[in-house]
Amino acid sequence: MPIDATLPYDDNNIFAKILRGEIPSSKIYEDDWAYAFPDINPQAALHILVIPKGRYVSWDDFSANASADEIAGFVRAVGQVARDHGLVEPGYRLLANLGAHGGQEVPHLHVHLFGGESLGPMIACR
Ligand code: 5GP
Repeated sequence: MPIDATLPYDDNNIFAKILRGEIPSSKIYEDDWAYAFPDINPQAALHILVIPKGRYVSWDDFSANASADEIAGFVRAVGQVARDHGLVEPGYRLLANLGAHGGQEVPHLHVHLFGGESLGPMIACR
């Protein structure tokens, strides 16, 4: 069920629980700014979620309200995860869904990183 990305941050969302270690996840990458783990329902050979450690509902919230250090740290973490998996030469795709029309289901900003195979012109979303 897509969320309303204009609502305040909900500390009980599933990715907040993953960050707090209350729900298990397989850590792929972690630093001061970001945490990465495999998507539970992969849509490509490699499907990783990268999330900021801060309490941001969406890309809109993050881009408007995160500090420069948080933004730089998160963006660098996404790039690092891709490099760590050898995805730069074959290529990969990033996606951040936002709100109802974007199909965002979890109200904590997350970037989907897809790779490990040729993805075609666009991943089907319906
Ligand atoms: P959204 O539609 O919000 O952009 O994507 C949410 C993603 O989170 C989905 O691809 C879904 O499979 C993934 N997801 C939802 N719950 C969990 C979970 O508990 N663990 C993991 N690893 N992924 C989850």
